[in-house]
Amino acid sequence: MASCSGDSRLIQFFNCRLVRDHRLVEEDLWVRNGKIINPEPIFFDERCKAHTLINCEGAIIAPGYIDLQINGGYGVDFSYDKDTTEQGVQKVARGLVKSGVTSFCPTLVTSPNDTYHTILPRIPMHTDRGAGVLGVHVEGPFINPQKKGAHPEHCIQSIDNGLETLCETYGSLERIKIITLAPEQVKELAVISELVEAGIVVSLGHSMASLSDGERAVQHGASLITHLFNAMLPFHHRDPGLVGLLASDAIPADRTVYFGIIADGVHTHPAALRIAYRTHCQGLILVTDAISALGLEDGIHHIGQLPLEVKQGKAFVAGSDTLCGSIAPMDECVRIFQRATGCSQVFAIEAASLHPARCLRIEAEKGTLDFGSDADFIFLNDELEVLATWIGGVCVHAK
Ligand code: ZN
Repeated sequence: MASCSGDSRLIQFFNCRLVRDHRLVEEDLWVRNGKIINPEPIFFDERCKAHTLINCEGAIIAPGYIDLQINGGYGVDFSYDKDTTEQGVQKVARGLVKSGVTSFCPTLVTSPNDTYHTILPRIPMHTDRGAGVLGVHVEGPFINPQKKGAHPEHCIQSIDNGLETLCETYGSLERIKIITLAPEQVKELAVISELVEAGIVVSLGHSMASLSDGERAVQHGASLITHLFNAMLPFHHRDPGLVGLLASDAIPADRTVYFGIIADGVHTHPAALRIAYRTHCQGLILVTDAISALGLEDGIHHIGQLPLEVKQGKAFVAGSDTLCGSIAPMDECVRIFQRATGCSQVFAIEAASLHPARCLRIEAEKGTLDFGSDADFIFLNDELEVLATWIGGVCVHAK
């Protein structure tokens, strides 16, 4: 057989196990033009062989991880570093590939309107040899002040005038992929349907919502819950709040309510991870919710106004025992989640790849190794440690 001609180099990965059809299968992976392809027509029609053969030495090949909620990393804070937004996002994008993340939603916390107007147009939608940007996750400012967490209270708003309020606040909705809002801050829930029609995922969070408030928002098109258990009413048996959406019977059978969950071993107790997993596993999405100290070495760092100390994989307000946010990279969250729940390796991987892709309705391009998908994938060993990361058929990281 001859090698196929043209600049569309054909790569064959062999001696590997692929995550396909919700299990591990011993098959080769074929890549051309940045896409995963079906090898059969190559054998039978083109009668050619690969230009490059890669021996994977028994590694697992999994779809790359997708992080729907990340505030920054490597010293960069997406919400504050206004003058260096472009370089900052590129820096984080290049760093994230080490943790197996191949695409992400840079996340902005509650901010003044002019900050959105400045930062949003500066977020690059294309990155160079780094994880891809899927659009921005704006977490706020339409949240409940009583569940504000670390968000600045003076910037919190309510949606009194539908899309008009949203456009005034953010400037343009063009680069926004996810909006986290508290449904009780919304005067007319019809705006949720309008956002969904515009291709934006509405996520419920930082909220005091009752279960019925949550159900009404889902009936209007909300499809995600932001960092389940954190910044919402705690589970109560008479009104389980947003947590109750995991077992609601008021949601049509053809709809899946997704939820982000932080499996960093700190922000969500292992038993809470198990409750979420056993109640509604198909909606479970691992998010890092990482802050700018992600990827920094142990020691004192100054990020914005805040001096913080990184010690053994945790970030503290400097000189104190106060945790100031998550810094566990996605690959670690996947391992922590798998250990905590005893789920299969494949399920843990899919909770960070397939599920977020489905939530964003991009599963035809991302989140699987199906034929026709983007060649964004990672090599893992059996401990689920990342050995290599490929994006668009190009190796961007190898251990
Ligand atoms: Zn939050």
